[in-house]
Amino acid sequence: MNKHETDFLIEEITRHLGAKRDGGNKNLIARCPYCGKEDKYGIYIGKETLRKKPFMAHCFSCGRSTLTRDKLLEEIGRPDLMITPTADLSAPLNANLLFPLDNEEEIDDTLGIVELPDFYRQVYTHPYLKARGFVYDDYEQFPVGITAGLNRRYDDYVIFPVIDSGDVVGYVARHTWSKEEIDNYNRKAKRAGEYQIRRFNNSTQNDFVKLLYNYDAVIEDETDTVILVEGIFDVVAITRKLELYDNPHFVAVATFGKKVSQAQIYKLQTKGVRTVVLGFDGDAVSAIKQTATELSPYFEVFIADIADPTKDWQDLTDTDIFEIFSGRLRSPLEYKLSKLQE
Ligand SMILES: [Zn+2]
Repeated sequence: MNKHETDFLIEEITRHLGAKRDGGNKNLIARCPYCGKEDKYGIYIGKETLRKKPFMAHCFSCGRSTLTRDKLLEEIGRPDLMITPTADLSAPLNANLLFPLDNEEEIDDTLGIVELPDFYRQVYTHPYLKARGFVYDDYEQFPVGITAGLNRRYDDYVIFPVIDSGDVVGYVARHTWSKEEIDNYNRKAKRAGEYQIRRFNNSTQNDFVKLLYNYDAVIEDETDTVILVEGIFDVVAITRKLELYDNPHFVAVATFGKKVSQAQIYKLQTKGVRTVVLGFDGDAVSAIKQTATELSPYFEVFIADIADPTKDWQDLTDTDIFEIFSGRLRSPLEYKLSKLQE
């Protein structure tokens, strides 16, 4: 635990117990959680010494004590503040990922090749994507296409192939109308008994849970850090705004939603990724807490804490994003402590 995390934890315990500090600032003094005596319960918060470790606790009335931080947190009813085990970055691949102990199925990371819609052709400019900020480099790095009036099912969609080891293993097709336009149209269409427009018209032969968007940009033993986001447009926005196009060390990758699967974790681990910055949308607080916990055994995890929960990566300016990466990366514990109310 770093100093910042320790301070956070002390602050939270203080608040939780209504504690105060002793004169030397080395102990928190509170009402004993066991016997209820006021001012008899001490929690050591000074430096570690031969005989004292931070967060050892003792009641000078009933004599009960605990020796470790986690035990203390358990006893005072705050197991949520316990720290998830830290990743051992030098450890070999975790065999449990491949062969889960509870004898569930092994992780199946096999992928099938998926045909793009008939008449798909790649484009290098498109009014809808231009309006969403796409520049030339984006079309180069993130292939996207249309069916140009030749395939009715995909009229007015932009289609992003999902590529893995050079193969197309799925695609995301997004309608180019806004949500409001689609909703309006669908309301009228429903009354007229006509066909409804779907905002997404993705490939169905594959399981998106096993895929990562922009996975081929993660280079084995070269990419150290991956920023994990929800969708394709987030990947493109971060790559453009942080100019990561030719940066093999730091790569944005999408999970297609607000969670991460064991197969996706395994895919990142096999390429030697050590650090994951979790960049789900700011409003997804509980999904972020959950995903951080799932990633923590395998990677060093940070959370990119977007200050304004109504914004996603596409809404943020270059400066906003730079500020997040320079000053608002939280450890999972810091993040949990800062979002206790949610
Ligand atoms: Zn007591």
